Amino acid sequence: MIEQVKGTQNIYQNDSEKYLHVRKCFFDVFNKSGYSYIQTPHLEHSELFEKSIGENSEIVSKQMYQFNDKGGRTLVLRPEGTSSIVRYHAQNQKELTNQYSYFGQMFRYENPQKNRYREFTQGGVEIIGNLDAFSDFQVINDSIRFLNSLNLTFTLEINTIGSIDDRELYSKELYTYFKTHENDLSDESREKLDLNTLRILDSNNSLDSNVIKHAPVISNFINDISSQKYESLKSLLNNSNIKFKENTRLVRGLDYYNDLTFEFINNDGVVLGGGGRYDRLAEILNIGTFNGVGVAFGIERIMNIIDIKNKSPKVYIIGTDIDKIAQLCILLDKNDIDYSKPPRLSKINSQFKSAKNLGAKYVVNADEDTIKDLENNTSVEFNVEVLIEN
Ligand code: AMP
Repeated sequence: MIEQVKGTQNIYQNDSEKYLHVRKCFFDVFNKSGYSYIQTPHLEHSELFEKSIGENSEIVSKQMYQFNDKGGRTLVLRPEGTSSIVRYHAQNQKELTNQYSYFGQMFRYENPQKNRYREFTQGGVEIIGNLDAFSDFQVINDSIRFLNSLNLTFTLEINTIGSIDDRELYSKELYTYFKTHENDLSDESREKLDLNTLRILDSNNSLDSNVIKHAPVISNFINDISSQKYESLKSLLNNSNIKFKENTRLVRGLDYYNDLTFEFINNDGVVLGGGGRYDRLAEILNIGTFNGVGVAFGIERIMNIIDIKNKSPKVYIIGTDIDKIAQLCILLDKNDIDYSKPPRLSKINSQFKSAKNLGAKYVVNADEDTIKDLENNTSVEFNVEVLIEN
């Protein structure tokens, strides 16, 4: 048997119920509040992410599925959604300010484990164009509505990472600090020291915790305008009764962020989603000067913590006479009645058992022309009105 590729998943049965449920909640919340769905390609030129996320980021330096196609192009399976949407906006909607939503597969060559896959699903939104504080507010507020619609318990953590210049200054200071404590860091963090200093702050390794605890914090490097924006957002959140926790170490790993960063974390410390402002991304890509703010959720991470019952069919039809059961299908289709059916015409008893196991309310027997109500254990002669009325 040819093995399944490591880090990929089959989503089926109860998992697929969860997947579809999360997707429905996602679109119910975001697409009913102004965001329009966009689907961008899974294949992109490597250059897009090298420029946007940054060549030294972990994603680009280690995690991209990169290959040359038969035409000699260097392509990747997309590791994230934002860069492609920004590219689309620059090409087609440059003069506008748009609210986009997306939902689809991303690919990162990571060490597979629970909540971390090589092929995974992100659902996210972006507001791109000419933005203000209300743009930041609505991305956070709509994200909360999405997580609430799934009955999840979570904490919103926020931070400001200032301008790209502030971050550069901070990175230098952080580098000097970590360099003097290099011997106390884990191997993994030592590796990040030269090219990806900020990412050391994300480490969960207990060796690093003590060093990180005393590291300089970014808040001391933030310019006045960014600080003011951050203070206004905090008071807006407070006035709107949105609970949040400040986390000065929340810098996120992508080069393109500035000012606001935020994450949604559950009680077990799992990061369900996160995002922030990216006002310079278009400039970095050399495609314009517009702003952006967005969020992306890890859909499998959400699936892993929700509970959902399999849906039972209301009507299940059974029979062994193909003409009779086919006529019944046509009649129910005409009346717009949803129904389940056996995949083939096996013995009537085994069909009945399947209906029962699936928890159907009505079993329509095409051979006998009857409707059995399994909840009340009663049978009546077939009459389509019974199914329509109930
Ligand atoms: P990022 O694009 O890294 O900011 O990720 C946004 C969200 O996607 C994270 O908060 C996770 O919930 C999810 N995510 C990122 N990488 C993975 C992965 N390898 N497997 C599953 N979910 C992921």
